[in-house]
Amino acid sequence: MALLFGKSKYSTLSGTPGDSSSHHSGLSAAEPLKKKEIPEGLWEKCKKCGEMNFTKKREENLNVCPRCGCHYPLTAQQRIALLTDEGTFKEVDALLESVDTLKFEGVASYTEKLGASKAKTGLKDAIVCGLARLKGVPYALGVMDFRFLGASMGAVVGEKVTRLVELATARKLPLAIVTASGGARMYEGMISLMQMAKTSGALERHQEEGLPYIVIMTHPTTAGVTASFASLGDLIVAEPEALIGFAGPRVIKDTTQAHLPEGFQTAEFLLKKGLIDRIIDRKNLRDELALCLEYFTFGATSKGDLKKKASK
Ligand SMILES: [Zn+2]
Repeated sequence: MALLFGKSKYSTLSGTPGDSSSHHSGLSAAEPLKKKEIPEGLWEKCKKCGEMNFTKKREENLNVCPRCGCHYPLTAQQRIALLTDEGTFKEVDALLESVDTLKFEGVASYTEKLGASKAKTGLKDAIVCGLARLKGVPYALGVMDFRFLGASMGAVVGEKVTRLVELATARKLPLAIVTASGGARMYEGMISLMQMAKTSGALERHQEEGLPYIVIMTHPTTAGVTASFASLGDLIVAEPEALIGFAGPRVIKDTTQAHLPEGFQTAEFLLKKGLIDRIIDRKNLRDELALCLEYFTFGATSKGDLKKKASK
């Protein structure tokens, strides 16, 4: 159904179906035909509802399908623009870079993989951290970028998260981290696993100061990141239909031999089970985060930093 509706919008786009060269090739005629008709990058088919979206329109809609609301990933820079007041984001630890300590060799070496991800994203690693303001409220913000090696957590991601948390603690700031991750970065072996304890320890000290920590889980947040700093928020929110879990469904099924309930690793399922506090549509995320920061910050200032409050 959805496909039919989508089709009527794009079939008029380029040229005549009749002039296609499908009869030239005996092999899989349907696929090359489609590719020829749609200028690359201009239109994209929604993976959920099948609607052909004008790419620019979808991007203007915060990369959410205008028809079905499917949330597509944002880059770290787009996310920062969404969640901060313009011009207030000051990046920290921008120059930290991963090294191939284990001299990992697979199909491609870790060094090659890092190089490719850097070239593709313009980032040095899978998280961007800094201090910013949102509707005037100062806070510390970390944003993971799934394009960089699946936003896996190696020594640099773990270190940047830890330093951001420590900076927030020192400056008595609330903290928000937008997560998306395939888990621990296996190219770094045990070093990547150690980041789970390190980030969790830093968050404990942030909490001891009575400072709020908000996690925004985006699709997909899994494995070592779910099992550490992503699950430790005072408030844990998620974008609609985000995949959130530790191990993949096949592994769980094989290990437990249990029947898995439908949609059990989605944000909606986990909201029912209590892991997630709230699901927020991307279009409301900025306002709702600002509201939370404001509530929490006034709570904290009334208890602690009276001087700061008085000067307002
Ligand atoms: Zn859609």
